Amino acid sequence: MRVQSDPLHSLLDGSWFKLICGASYQHLPAVRSLALAYSLAGADCIDVAADPAVIAAAQEGISIAQKLQEKSNLNTLPWLMVSISDGEDPHFRKAEFDLNQCPSDCPQPCVQVCPAEAINFNFGGVIDDLCYGCGRCVPICPEELIGTRSFVSSPKEVVPWIESMTIDAIEIHTQAGHHDDFLRVWKNVAPIVGRLKLLAISCTDAPNIIDYLRSLYELISPLPCPLIWQTDGRSMSGDIGRGTTHAAIAFAQKVLQAKLPGHVQLAGGTNDYTVEKLRQENMLRPQKLRSKYNSVSGVAYGSYARGILSPILAKLEITGLQNTQLNLTINRPMNQLNLKLEQDIELLGQAVGMASQLVSQIKKIS
Ligand code: SF4
Ligand code: SF4
Repeated sequence: MRVQSDPLHSLLDGSWFKLICGASYQHLPAVRSLALAYSLAGADCIDVAADPAVIAAAQEGISIAQKLQEKSNLNTLPWLMVSISDGEDPHFRKAEFDLNQCPSDCPQPCVQVCPAEAINFNFGGVIDDLCYGCGRCVPICPEELIGTRSFVSSPKEVVPWIESMTIDAIEIHTQAGHHDDFLRVWKNVAPIVGRLKLLAISCTDAPNIIDYLRSLYELISPLPCPLIWQTDGRSMSGDIGRGTTHAAIAFAQKVLQAKLPGHVQLAGGTNDYTVEKLRQENMLRPQKLRSKYNSVSGVAYGSYARGILSPILAKLEITGLQNTQLNLTINRPMNQLNLKLEQDIELLGQAVGMASQLVSQIKKIS
């Protein structure tokens, strides 16, 4: 069941839900399906990699959701956010190794540990589009063969096409001490910030993080749109277990106590325990009560939100492959071979149902 929401209203009443597809996740069919299912489930924002193909896939998913919503008289849609970074950042990297160096008797723990099924020896090792840089495979390799390569997009190149693709929001990933790097990115983002509905700044905790965030606020203010501080507690770990949510909550509490202007939204380690824990800590309240109490505006979910839908997306892929084999035998054109989530009503219903279970947790506060 979809929970109807307006993104701005959700921010104000503390029920904001963001889906993080992943700053380096580039599996286009999965991004499209995730955007579709979570849009129909009532997500307020879909956050994707700064890659035109990924943005187009997410836009297509949202647009299909819009068409389906029109039939049910629901008309709110999530904002589309693009994540960029001001320097090297674990969210912006890919694992890599040379499979020719792997001993033939290695039990392949790298394959088991990868939450994205991104390591497959039939496809040359790491499948780039599927790897989202979590880094779990790196320490597990007994031969120390796995490394990572970072990619830092040039804001000068990225911002113009972000502008041309009708993006609602930009998120800048930064880290304490990156002031000059942030300034370099900001110089490119500032001219288009008036066209955005939202700006987000994402960072991990550090001893001097509050002073750093204050310095960023001085740099970017006044802003013509709302601002979110994304407190990235334990990056890309929400699917590991309930306990990972504690780091995100602790960091959010620290930022809330500093009373920085803007909204505070959790990420990094969030899962189906996060809202329950926020309620226990009395951290979910509408904005009008926030001056009295420290409360967050919402939660972003990455690996956990993707993970709960992955069995459904895998089924879709298998059905698509079976159809492909069938269609190839009857000479259908290639563009008719991939199965889209909306073409399998049963799987779409399951995907939206699972996504709604997660989205509705935070929507219940209003
Ligand atoms: S474990 Fe993480 S870093 Fe390694 S291949 Fe899988 S997604 Fe990429
Ligand atoms: S764990 Fe290391 S050595 Fe073993 S298969 Fe994976 S990459 Fe190769």
